[in-house]
Amino acid sequence: MDHSNEPTIEQLKQWDKKHVWHSFTQMAEYEPFVISKGHGATLYDLQGNAFLDGVSSLWCNLHGHNHPRLNAALKKQSERVSHVTSLGMANDTTIKLAHRLPKIAPKGLEHTFFSSDGSSAVEVALKIAFQYWQQKENPKPQKRKYLALTDAYHGDTLGSVSVGGVARFHEMFHPLLFEVLRLPTPDNYRLPEGVTREEACSFYTNQLEEVLEKHHHELAAFVIEPKMQCAAGMLKHPEGYFKEVRRLTQKYNVLLIADEVAVGNGRSGTYFASEQEGVHPDILCTGKGLTGGYLPLAITMTTTEIWNAFLGEYHESKTLFHGHTYSGNPLGAALALESLNLFEDENLLSHVREKAKLFTKLLSELNEYEEVGDIRQLGLIAGVEFVQDRQAKTPFPWDKKVGIQICNGALEKGVWLRPLGNVLVILPPLSITEQELQTIFQGVHYGISQTFGNKPKLQPT
Ligand SMILES: *Cc1c(COP(=O)(O)O)cnc(C)c1O
Repeated sequence: MDHSNEPTIEQLKQWDKKHVWHSFTQMAEYEPFVISKGHGATLYDLQGNAFLDGVSSLWCNLHGHNHPRLNAALKKQSERVSHVTSLGMANDTTIKLAHRLPKIAPKGLEHTFFSSDGSSAVEVALKIAFQYWQQKENPKPQKRKYLALTDAYHGDTLGSVSVGGVARFHEMFHPLLFEVLRLPTPDNYRLPEGVTREEACSFYTNQLEEVLEKHHHELAAFVIEPKMQCAAGMLKHPEGYFKEVRRLTQKYNVLLIADEVAVGNGRSGTYFASEQEGVHPDILCTGKGLTGGYLPLAITMTTTEIWNAFLGEYHESKTLFHGHTYSGNPLGAALALESLNLFEDENLLSHVREKAKLFTKLLSELNEYEEVGDIRQLGLIAGVEFVQDRQAKTPFPWDKKVGIQICNGALEKGVWLRPLGNVLVILPPLSITEQELQTIFQGVHYGISQTFGNKPKLQPT
């Protein structure tokens, strides 16, 4: 049979609109935007138009697209074996990755459960935390609830949605979710009345301690994104808050689950963001950039204290009865290993920290627009929040699509971005050049002036 009959560009677009159900996309108004190849930080559509990938293909890409070393690692592994199960057996590549991860992770995380996506990594973390208290030595079976933050996002499966709190995404499913104890987001921009930025950390820490004091006996774990809540709109926590989270969860004997699906993998300037506050979580999840943005692979790492609670005689049934068909897939593992090699060989983390300084400068120039309410940055992650009134921090109505309009403007200049409501997200591949970063910001400036009109800029202060 001849399989070489290629559809036309128009056909592809029609098929896309008719058959592909896109993530987080209103399909009634979806306009097909079809990429056919990538190189470095640039994506090319079917017609060959170039777009800078300003959000790393949804926060995944680290080393650029179509990277020769990652391509070679994938090919080499595929010429040996592409998949073996992790149910009762192993493969050499995944073993090597599991041996390598504790060397870059916060101290104490020695054991890795593999899955395919961030949501699953969080589900596994929740189940491990629950089961741990049920069957550890001196069990505490009443510890079966979770603590999470108000605007949390931990994925889209029902367990991860339960601990999530983004109303627009999650409210609809409320009847399906389990009960979670909620703590207000330690937001450093919209502070509670009377609280200054200097007081913010201790204010939010006190709130946490009150909840822990009252509820620790029923709490299995606190699940939180370290330092910045990304999908919530790049909400940044006060400096030092995460360190206090660790201190207090330890004091009240509640497990700490660090969801580093977004902030992990070098984006913050350290391989894991927990490191920046010297935090050793009990459980750590990551996904997204783990394979450099090539294949779906996620991990849930735990301490030996937790691991030990799952060991026992077969008949005791202490096994973690959880698994995913592609857990520990060797192609993904080969890519993750090569990605870690690239971090080492190219001294990538120090480059990220260098580029983050230029990023800071380019971001601060956006302050001249009066609609910019807040600029939040963590390494090469940034959220720029647009507001109707800078003083009152009044949000634009959601359906005004301010973020989308700005991104559409940038797209005209060949810069692809995807916002979170009124928050413009800029999250380039770590390999982006300074020149490309400047180009992204040219697109952003154009998008902003298109959206708000060429009003006079604020005087620089
Ligand atoms: C993206 C994300 C997830 C979910 O990962 P998926 O691979 O989309 O399932 C979980 N937690 C955080 C913090 C994320 O950013």
